[in-house]
Amino acid sequence: MQELKVILRDDEIPRQWYNIQADMPTPLSPPLNPATGQPIDPEDLGKVFPMNLVEQEMDQNRWIDIPEEILEKLLLWRPSPLQRAVGLEKALQTPAKIFYKNEGVSPAGSHKPNSAIAQAYYNKEFGIRRLTTETGAGQWGSALSFAAQQFGLELKVYMVRVSFEQKPFRKLMMQTWGANCVPSPTRDTATGRAVLEEYPDTPGSLGIAISEAIEDAVSSENTRYSLGSVLNFVCLHQTIIGLEAQKQMEKIGAYPDVVIGCIGGGSNFAGLAAPYIRDKIQGREIRVIGAEPTACPTLTKGPYAYDFGDLAKTTPLLPMHTLGHDFIPAPMHAGGLRYHGMAPLVSRLCQDKLVEGAALNQLDCYAAGMLWARTEGFIPAPETTHAIAAGIEEAKKAKEEGRERVILIGWSGHGLMDLKGYEAYINGELSNYEYPQEMIDKSLEVLKDYPKPE
Ligand SMILES: *Cc1c(COP(=O)(O)O)cnc(C)c1O
Repeated sequence: MQELKVILRDDEIPRQWYNIQADMPTPLSPPLNPATGQPIDPEDLGKVFPMNLVEQEMDQNRWIDIPEEILEKLLLWRPSPLQRAVGLEKALQTPAKIFYKNEGVSPAGSHKPNSAIAQAYYNKEFGIRRLTTETGAGQWGSALSFAAQQFGLELKVYMVRVSFEQKPFRKLMMQTWGANCVPSPTRDTATGRAVLEEYPDTPGSLGIAISEAIEDAVSSENTRYSLGSVLNFVCLHQTIIGLEAQKQMEKIGAYPDVVIGCIGGGSNFAGLAAPYIRDKIQGREIRVIGAEPTACPTLTKGPYAYDFGDLAKTTPLLPMHTLGHDFIPAPMHAGGLRYHGMAPLVSRLCQDKLVEGAALNQLDCYAAGMLWARTEGFIPAPETTHAIAAGIEEAKKAKEEGRERVILIGWSGHGLMDLKGYEAYINGELSNYEYPQEMIDKSLEVLKDYPKPE
């Protein structure tokens, strides 16, 4: 362990992750093999992910030790700061106390390295030498590039072509950390070649990139695929956020009335919220809110159903809130919140009313991001502004009610690579977008023939 950090804040770092599966009132329905409708065979998953992670995905133990090698890497930036947003409180003239857990201090600038480091470690342990993944805007690709480099693994990142061309900075981060980042579709996979044959000028899509990354992983030696959200083990790795937050707030005798995080695939939110949801299951009064865009209202409007994780239907069927695997996102700037599905863990907790969703529109979120930057300094990622906007709503409510409330916000990442979005907002070029009900009805039609989760 790095001595100095251990001396300073050793007591804030948990030695185990918290697995909420051990405490959930309703167990998760299993992922299904779409061909048979039966629970997926772990051996099949083992072709895509290393077996030690497949086992972790199904692990039902409440506490899971964090290997020392992972802790050592996490110490590069952990424990992440828990701070009080006094400047924002003043600007809002609210009696509420607003705390935030800043995950923007990691090398890649978000919470994503918490799982990237763990996944790189488990792959290495299993004897894997090379990883593949896909990335849209580049946040996951850059986090995994950093992590792969830390453990001496090779990495190929399939980056959606339009982002590869329009967002060179994340690509350059990946290259700086030694990864091979290519614009998808490529000529390197059968999927990519087939797409290019038919649409040579395609901008690419996340669905195509996922299919390419999985095809590469299952057809190459000593190679596995890595995914940055949605899965149980990703949510598990992220619980270090909430466990640290609890220790840090305990030091000052504080406990939140409301915990808020933004939700794309659900991992940073699940990581922050899980330890608090455990308290809630045990009777503590606390609200837990997942903040999502009105343009992609998965938790607030999507049905709870079995659906594919990707457009090409290469994944198992997952039990989750979904807008349908053929969901086409509106062009909006919170790239990390455009996923059609939601972590099965978060979806199930929402079904059991332990988690509530809140949908926020783009203009309110950017306004919240601007206010945050001007009062608290740090410029939040467009995704993070959703949690901030939801937190501001709660703080305003506290003011109206004249109550002192303690609000905890998951500050998932900084926005220094996303200033194009701020530019569009500042120039008045952005508008709000509500995902239309008839589109939701359409995907319901498709989903009605699939098996139903418990
Ligand atoms: C990727 C990302 C998200 C969304 O991912 P989750 O799995 O829902 O946490 C949120 N914020 C930032 C900064 C991200 O990079």
